[in-house]
Amino acid sequence: MQDPNCIFCKIVRGEIPSRKVYEDDAVFAFHDIHPVAPVHLLMVPKEHVASLSEAQEAHTQALGRIMVRAARLAAQEGADDGFRLIVNSGRVGRQEVMHVHAHVLGGKEPLGTMLPRSR
Ligand code: AMP
Ligand code: ZN
Repeated sequence: MQDPNCIFCKIVRGEIPSRKVYEDDAVFAFHDIHPVAPVHLLMVPKEHVASLSEAQEAHTQALGRIMVRAARLAAQEGADDGFRLIVNSGRVGRQEVMHVHAHVLGGKEPLGTMLPRSR
């Protein structure tokens, strides 16, 4: 269910401090420690799942709840006119913390383009 060495499992358990913005039985949300936008939250399933590649049917409820709840949390933090939800996955997705998390990014002004186009 949880990985004793996982940093986000430790945050969920309260063993590492975080700036929590939301919690229910399946989901935990907190401010990213190195924000790249005026609003930068992380939403994680409480159950340890390393990456989206390893997500199973049983994780559908928590992952779905993250998508449905993201807009409300973004608005609550000041991003009330749109936001971006990003889930980096695996090596190609440049995932750094191996516990599934969705970045909720926004602010008052439009964000940069998602990825620079090569031409
Ligand atoms: P990713 O590259 O998608 O795996 O993103 C990992 C994110 O976790 C980065 O944006 C980090 O700034 C963030 N992060 C790492 N450690 C912590 C922490 N202790 N509290 C909050 N955010 C963290
Ligand atoms: Zn974990």
